[in-house]
Parts: sequence; structure tokens; C-alpha cells
Amino acid sequence: PTAKVIKIRDSTEHRERRVKIQGWVHHLRREGKKLLFIQLRDGTGYLQCVLTNLLCSTYEAITLTTESSVTLFGKVMELPPGSHHKAPGDHELIVDYWELICGAPSGGPYSVLDKNTNFDLQLDNRHIVIRGTNTSKNLKAASLVTQLIREHHLDRGYMEVHPPCIVQTKTEGGSSLFELQYYGKKAYLTQSSQLYLESVIAALGDVFCIQKSFRAEKSRTRRHLSEFTHIEAEFNFITFENLLEKIEDLVVSVCDRITNPNNPLRQLVFEINPDFRTPRRPFKRMSYTEVIQYLKDNNIKKKDGTYFQPKDDIPEGAERTMINKLNEPILVCRFPAAWKPFYTKKCSDDPQLTESVDLLMPGVGEILGASMRTENYDELIKAFIEKKIEPSTYYWYSDQRKFGSCAHGGYGLGLERFLMWILKLPHICDACLYPRILDRCKP
Ligand code: ATP
Ligand code: MG
Ligand code: MG
Ligand code: MG
Repeated sequence: PTAKVIKIRDSTEHRERRVKIQGWVHHLRREGKKLLFIQLRDGTGYLQCVLTNLLCSTYEAITLTTESSVTLFGKVMELPPGSHHKAPGDHELIVDYWELICGAPSGGPYSVLDKNTNFDLQLDNRHIVIRGTNTSKNLKAASLVTQLIREHHLDRGYMEVHPPCIVQTKTEGGSSLFELQYYGKKAYLTQSSQLYLESVIAALGDVFCIQKSFRAEKSRTRRHLSEFTHIEAEFNFITFENLLEKIEDLVVSVCDRITNPNNPLRQLVFEINPDFRTPRRPFKRMSYTEVIQYLKDNNIKKKDGTYFQPKDDIPEGAERTMINKLNEPILVCRFPAAWKPFYTKKCSDDPQLTESVDLLMPGVGEILGASMRTENYDELIKAFIEKKIEPSTYYWYSDQRKFGSCAHGGYGLGLERFLMWILKLPHICDACLYPRILDRCKP
């Protein structure tokens, strides 16, 4: 009889029918000489496939190894009642014919994987590791979350744009720039699309982009990549308070979309992190000054054993100790102007401080940074001079303040960090397909 070509995802609808399925041997189990169980994987799911009698006594069946690709024909059958074999979907494929497409010789790197081996060895073999159950689950969850983030922005009427990746401007300062030759001139890989988004709001209104940003991070930490997926948005005619509400709205709406029972991929997030919950609005707010005080009150000290002072940058370790103690999302507001970039708007009641905010999440620390932007032309030029930046490269950016300036601000969310929090992942590399970190540019 003819067989319909199907994906494992659709196998339930094809019970009692003969189908053709192609995929990879995820697991193999032999019971005596006349029974062979294959757990087949095709990216859409897993299916138990049963080979009996002659089918499993051929040379190819006897030498079959995991990770080989195969074509299987057979009938999708409900598991017999009381069956002691557990199979996903409660059905299995009773194979009547099969073909090997390509073997996977044992001795390949798979043997060392899925065990907690050396970090770099795992990354060297990432192209194989991603076939594993846990890693492929994380990557599917990443696809889902990206989709929900995009939906969130589109539902609110924000326009998606695609700013350039090759730029001549710096948003985060020189030390983390990747420099390149551009037709004989110096250019950089973008650190953030923010400046471009700011230039678009007078044309398209509120805008967002989902794009890679590049930063030469000089040390290996568990939350820094050299290339990360940056979700950035920029809004016109807003106040700092509006911006804080938009940040809460983003996080809560994406979490609600994840927990929506109509979402078929929802189960996946709970399989990875059973404790996942949408946080309650409004998020707790602390000023930077209150954070410095909190660190002191809770005896969280600098590396040199002294207390943090106002104006000190709060390093990753101290930030995480604090947020793990507080154990809820925190919006840290009003950072000192001294170490915020040139575009950050100063507070009207204290020019030493800025209308800026970081969103901290338990287990990760900062997952989002946001600020209102300086709208006054003279103030912007003054900031360029203060930060020792040559303003001429930024003519197109400053022009915005000359030709109809407006109050505006926006945020940047790191997708991989957001995933670390949602899925409770210990390391940012777990949330990334092919991580780029210090000294690593492969695979
Ligand atoms: P950090 O303090 O952790 O170095 P940042 O303050 O330099 O981060 P921003 O410039 O505020 O980062 O960028 C906005 C968001 O982009 C961050 O909150 C974070 O989620 C993400 N992000 C920034 N740098 C990285 C990186 N190297 N790897 C992964 N995500 C990053
Ligand atoms: Mg940084
Ligand atoms: Mg930061
Ligand atoms: Mg930041």
C-alpha cells in the first residue's frame, strides 16, 4: 500500500495508516535478535519505531548506530494497553520496510556529549550537541520566545525595521568595538541599533528591531557573548514613567503569552523550567543610590573588601548577589551621568543623575537597559565634548535635535539573557545556537 510522507509532529492524525517518515536514530534498544526499538527524531518530535524478525536481522540493522539517518515505512499504532514501553504520544510505528540513508560511525564525538564534559570541548562540538534532547529544547524555546516578542511589538503597532550592522558610530565606547576595513575606511560592527532607531521615530513612529549586536567583551562571564540578539525599541513623545511601564508591559505580556494554554509550545518552557511564572506588575523600583545603600546594609562588598560608594559601577557579581536575595524583578533607576553614554538624558532635579534604568532578574542580573535620550541640540554637543567624541560622525544623529526634536526614549533587551531567566539556564551559551565568546569563532 502507498504511504504518506509525514513529520512526527503529525503522527497522531495518522493512526492506523501506513506512513513514510525520515529522521535520525536518537536512541536504539535491542531486545534479543528479533526486536529492535528505534527512537526516531526528525526535529518536530520523537517517535518509537519497532522493527521485528527479519527486518532487524539484516547486516544494516545489526550494525545500525545512533545518529544515523533512516527512512522508515510502517503503520502508526496505538500502544497496546498495559504496554510497559513508554513512547511519546502513546503510539509507535510498526515498521514494515526501512532503508539506511547515511550511517554515523561510532567513535564520532557523540559519545563524549550529553555527559558533563569539558566546557570548550562541548562548544567545539556544538554542531553535534544541538542534536541532544536538552539543547534542542532550549533552541526551540528560543524560537518560541522570539516569535512572542515580535508579536508583542507588532500587536502594539510598533514598526519593525532593519538598521545597518556595519556602522561608523559608537554607542558603548571604544573598548568593546570590533573594527573592520570598509573599502579602505574604518568601520565597526554595531554595538546597538539605538541611534538608528532614534532617527526613525520621526518617520515611522514607535519602532523596534531584532538584530545582532557585537561587543568585544574582554573577559569570559556567564552572561556575556561577543555577538548577541538585541531586541531594541524606541518611542516618541514619552516620559520616563511611560518608559518604565513599557518595560513592565514587555516582560509581562511575553510571559503571559508563554503561559497562555492555547500556545502549544508552552509545555516546552515548563518542561525546562517547571517554576516559570509571569511576574506581577508593578515591578519593585530602586534608585541607583538605594542600591548602593542596600549593598552596604547587606554586607555585599567590593572585591577589595570595602563598601560600594556612590558613583561606583556595580559589577556583575554584586548585582547578582543582590537580585538573588531580593528574588523578584527590579527596575534600577537614575544611574550617575558619569558612566552613562553621551545620549542619556540627565534628570531635571539632579544633572549628576540620568533618566536611565536597568531591569534585573533573579539568577541573571541585568537583562535590559533603557533610558530617555537627550533631546536638546546644545546639550548633546556638550555631551560629545565631555565624552571626548568627535561630533561630526554623528551629524545625522544630532540633526534630529535640529529638525523637530521630541522627548523620546527606548530599551534594549538581550534575548539570550531573557532566555536565561525564563528557562533558568546557568550559562548564556545554553541560550545561544553557536556562541561567540572571548577567543571563540567556531563552529
Ligand atoms: P552588562 O552590564 O551586562 O555588560 P550592558 O549594560 O553593557 O550589559 P546594554 O548596553 O545596556 O548592556 O545593552 C542592553 C542589553 O543587551 C543588556 O541589558 C543585555 O541584556 C544585553 N547585552 C549587552 N551586552 C551583552 C553581551 N555581551 N552579551 C549578551 N547580552 C548582552
Ligand atoms: Mg556591558
Ligand atoms: Mg550594564
Ligand atoms: Mg545596560
